[in-house]
Amino acid sequence: MTRSCSAVGCSTRDTMLSRERGLSFHQFPTDTIQRSKWIRAVNRVDPRSKKIWIPGPGAILCSKHFQESDFESYGIRRKLKKGAVPSVSLYKVLKSSCKQS
Ligand SMILES: [Zn+2]
Repeated sequence: MTRSCSAVGCSTRDTMLSRERGLSFHQFPTDTIQRSKWIRAVNRVDPRSKKIWIPGPGAILCSKHFQESDFESYGIRRKLKKGAVPSVSLYKVLKSSCKQS
């Protein structure tokens, strides 16, 4: 099963090709506080319940939503730093693209 990024307006899928392009994929943290920070950052609304969207067990975000400084490198592998919160290209992108049109 191919998973895709959970961020609003982002359609990056977790495929070999994406990984070859240097993207990495990160599951939502299990720590409650950290997890709620991610949920708030993603700021996604469930279309059915109209409530804040809660990530399922397989929910992931792609590395586009993190700053370079949020990562630690182990050789060729990258890992998110403890406490990193997504801050890049989230819902704000949609808002700014609306203004342009
Ligand atoms: Zn993404």
